[in-house]
Amino acid sequence: MTALTSIADLPVISNQPLVDTFGRLHDNLRISVTDRCNIRCFYCMPEDNVTYVPREEILSFEEIERFARVAVSLGVTKIRVTGGEPLVRKDLPVLIGKLCAIPGVRDIALTTNGVLLARHAQALYDAGLRRLNVHLDTLDRECFHQITRRDDLDKVLDGIDIAQQIGFGPIKINAVAVKNLVEPEIVPLVQYGRERGIEVRFIEFMPLDSQGLWSRENVLSADEIIETLSREISPLVEIADRDPRAPATEYRFADGIGSVGFIASVTRPFCLNCNRVRLTSDGKLRYCLFAIEETDVRALLRNGAPDAEIAATIRETVHKKWLGHEINSAKFVAPPRPMYAIGG
Ligand code: SAM
Ligand code: SF4
Repeated sequence: MTALTSIADLPVISNQPLVDTFGRLHDNLRISVTDRCNIRCFYCMPEDNVTYVPREEILSFEEIERFARVAVSLGVTKIRVTGGEPLVRKDLPVLIGKLCAIPGVRDIALTTNGVLLARHAQALYDAGLRRLNVHLDTLDRECFHQITRRDDLDKVLDGIDIAQQIGFGPIKINAVAVKNLVEPEIVPLVQYGRERGIEVRFIEFMPLDSQGLWSRENVLSADEIIETLSREISPLVEIADRDPRAPATEYRFADGIGSVGFIASVTRPFCLNCNRVRLTSDGKLRYCLFAIEETDVRALLRNGAPDAEIAATIRETVHKKWLGHEINSAKFVAPPRPMYAIGG
């Protein structure tokens, strides 16, 4: 047998699952297409003087597609496109079309702040996209402005209406749960979702903001929200037969109208079931949102590396994956990049 002298000698092995040293199967790829954004959520971006990756360092659609094809050959079946704000990336529907056309991709979703959704929804649908997560924390204009430093609430609501009319589904709302701020917003937001058949998913505030504002005291926990919704709307009952590898814990309302989800990374970490790897807009592969280390795949993509080398690099990155983040330990170190630069 010929000796392997480098990872470039490794063959691409289709259908060999990407399993890490803790036995977790990785079939979910999150692709950030930009670190730019058209609003300024305080728990993610600074208000001004934002540092962006230089444009020439951002992966092209062809580079992203090639990386995705290799990842799919290793067993990835689900792709989520995110950012920054993915809809500020020119011609995003073209990329969506390319990703949808990859044989083996079973599920493509987009996470967006919704500001440009009304404008691009039809083109995204025509490109093959069906699943949307729209980020919306409040129905109150003042509160929206306080959080995002922009006055775009109506645009987001229009975007959701238009996406529903076009036929997107499921549409979910992502709401960041920040204590002493969003408590009055929770019930109206969930009622809005129940009226429209949209699940609201509360994401506990995580230490990924660019200004170091996070503290445990600012986290509105899933338990607190469950208590409020159960008291003010209808009791919540945990959905038992959900996918155990999905990050959100889901509950249905006992009155039979709708459900809510919780991504409780701080109070109920789900690392043991994690199935995700992440590609940043500048071509760095990360095994965790909170990872400190990254693997440079842009260099491989731009230096003529064969698919086998990219595949081996994906395997190596998954192999290095840690058991989980340590937000709840004194050892925790926040990653050097904030949420918008990693891709949420
Ligand atoms: N711009 C798009 C958006 O806002 O949906 C996609 C990128 S954004 C980084 C992805 C998600 O991250 C958002 O939906 C928001 O809910 C979440 N997010 C941002 N900063 C967060 C933080 N510090 N803690 C928890 N979730 C956060
Ligand atoms: Fe932009 Fe999304 Fe970050 Fe808000 S959470 S600033 S919309 S990237």
